[in-house]
Amino acid sequence: MSALPPKLSTTISRYLESRRGDIVRATETLIRVASENPPGNQYRECAAAIRAVLDDVGLRPDVVAAGADDGAPCIMASIGSSSPTFYLHGHYDVVPAQDREQFELRLLNDRLFGRGSADMKGGLAAVLFAMVALRDSGVTLRGRVQLVIVPDEETAGGRGTSALVRRGLIDRNAVGMITAEPTSGVVWNASRGAISLRTAVRGRPVHVGLQFAGRNAFEGLLEIADELTAMKRKVERHVTAYAIRPAAARNSILMIGGELSGGTNFNVVPGRASFTIDRRLNPEEDFEVAQRALLDLFERARRRGIAVDVETIQTGRASSTSHSSALSTALGRSVRDVTKRAPRFEMCPGMLETRYYAALGIRALAYGPGLLRVAHGPKEFVAVRRLVECARVYALTAARMLR
Ligand SMILES: [Zn+2]
Repeated sequence: MSALPPKLSTTISRYLESRRGDIVRATETLIRVASENPPGNQYRECAAAIRAVLDDVGLRPDVVAAGADDGAPCIMASIGSSSPTFYLHGHYDVVPAQDREQFELRLLNDRLFGRGSADMKGGLAAVLFAMVALRDSGVTLRGRVQLVIVPDEETAGGRGTSALVRRGLIDRNAVGMITAEPTSGVVWNASRGAISLRTAVRGRPVHVGLQFAGRNAFEGLLEIADELTAMKRKVERHVTAYAIRPAAARNSILMIGGELSGGTNFNVVPGRASFTIDRRLNPEEDFEVAQRALLDLFERARRRGIAVDVETIQTGRASSTSHSSALSTALGRSVRDVTKRAPRFEMCPGMLETRYYAALGIRALAYGPGLLRVAHGPKEFVAVRRLVECARVYALTAARMLR
């Protein structure tokens, strides 16, 4: 990786400062579309809004219906030409709002409030303007910067990134990918895997007085939950070597009962009892081993006569990119240039779409303008200053990767 051309950092910084108002307006335009997921509302409207913003800044959008469903389009745009490819990535779906007012924008003391401001429509505006800044700075790129904006991230990527991968639309030879998730100022270079299951015990419902003739699904649930609790104690002894704060966040996860239902009335033997299991794996854990252990537990319950069905809600593998990789170095230097602070690399407590790229052998990191603690919440906001800073960081990183 060679040094950046002299003055490029200053040119990009001045350019993006001059477009601060446009970056805010683009963020507002996107936040006003209630692309809530689940269930996946207004995807077409949101994709149209993104296209309009891209048209507006002179980036030619490519719209791809990656899955079978063209109601969930992916949007791509690029600058530069040929190879290698460097990806800037984001998602346009947002988690459901707590309050409809979250789609009415408020700008207060440099904070832009609204659903998706942090996660991650602010990030989308920042990656988009990073591309514009690179294009207008006149720097020569050896390769292309490819923008990829997808739906469905909040529900495991079915029609978004995983569909792009299935269709071979992600270039395996790409030199890197950055997604603009709300990382609270740190770089996420690792993310957990997940095995999320819903299990339902079937019983036979009868009046309490005829209990002897029924089969209590809840008692079956309790037996399974007991075994899972024992497994939880073992699983959660595992501590990751990746950095994550606070220290308690380093333990592996097996959570039970996130969603819980069953029974019909206090005086009826429950005919059904269902609960969810969310196993989150640290990068050092083996996905197959963890999955097998869970499935074996249910198999044993069946052999004891418990009628239990298991449905997979989602699975995802953990992934990581070394903090000494070329991409990490380029991003780290750019973070330092812009924020005057040393970059910090940490593990994301949740799942990231970096995993799809990492599975193809592409180095992938997350870094974005939002704060994780406000993402998904009722007072979600993003700082305008951070939108501009992150756009600078993305532009400089792309320039470094394509020198
Ligand atoms: Zn997100």
